Amino acid sequence: MTDHPRIPLAGVIGSPVAHSRSPALHGFWLKKYGIRGHYIPMDIAEGDLEIVLRALPKAGFVGCNVTIPHKEAVLAFADVISDRAALIGAANTLIFRADGKIHADNTDGYGFIANLREAAPNWKPAEAPAAVIGAGGAARAIVASLLEMGCPEIRLSNRTRARAETLRAEFGARVVVYDWVQAGNMLEDALTVVNTSSLGMAGKAEFRVPLDALNPRAVVTDVVYTPLKTKLLAEAEAMGCTVVDGLGMLLHQAVPGFERWFGHRPEVTADLRAAVLGA
Ligand code: NAP
Repeated sequence: MTDHPRIPLAGVIGSPVAHSRSPALHGFWLKKYGIRGHYIPMDIAEGDLEIVLRALPKAGFVGCNVTIPHKEAVLAFADVISDRAALIGAANTLIFRADGKIHADNTDGYGFIANLREAAPNWKPAEAPAAVIGAGGAARAIVASLLEMGCPEIRLSNRTRARAETLRAEFGARVVVYDWVQAGNMLEDALTVVNTSSLGMAGKAEFRVPLDALNPRAVVTDVVYTPLKTKLLAEAEAMGCTVVDGLGMLLHQAVPGFERWFGHRPEVTADLRAAVLGA
């Protein structure tokens, strides 16, 4: 231990990590709020995860974000796991506490809800079923948060049906699994529609779920934010739906971590969006 104040450090661990927008995001806030701290990307191999996590607090780190492929594995090294991280089975935010303990949290669901609340203030998730495409890590956080918001039914469809069945087994009977070839059918009378898969992302497979049954009153959102206006969002907008892009989820999920690490609750603003988009 040193007896003089240290500059707080944070960062994101993943592999690869060079594409991450988190350094631009947190760097923007550090500068905006005049906080003497730093946030850096760290490309860490799976075999080095434990040794790095044990060393970071000693080097002055107050916490870090966690991205693919370490989101599940970090739970094994956490001393305290929040209820939502335990429910989701993955963490995206670690807090290195002054008592030496590692606290693991998952803020993806928080970011998802905060983004919709801000961008679609009339969104009422408890009013009607939700349709969720995909059953990976992002889906777990989103399904958990929709259940918490009182959504009466969550229709789930995934290319690999077994993964959707696993979510149903874990989250209960409000989750209803649809076959992948019938994913379009689950849109009927759903007022929340979410793509949680990587379909539609630049360089990945095209989003091809038929949208004929989409309700024009639905709020439609996508976790993919490259491009910002995905094919799903463009088509849904043309059908009269309220559409919300995935960048806002990324910005909002970062708020709780920044607050815990640097002691200031940051705001999600238009200039933050512009800075992260330009990074
Ligand atoms: P993941 O656990 O690897 O899951 C990927 C999902 O995409 C699975 O449901 C997978 O289906 C589906 N998928 C991939 N390729 C497919 C294809 N060719 N056809 C049909 N389905 C396909 O990844 P994740 O962590 O959930 O992340 C998913 C996406 O969300 C990524 O693009 C990630 O960048 C984004 N994300 C965004 C935010 C944000 O803040 N906006 C936060 C978290 C994640 P199978 O199970 O059949 O493979």
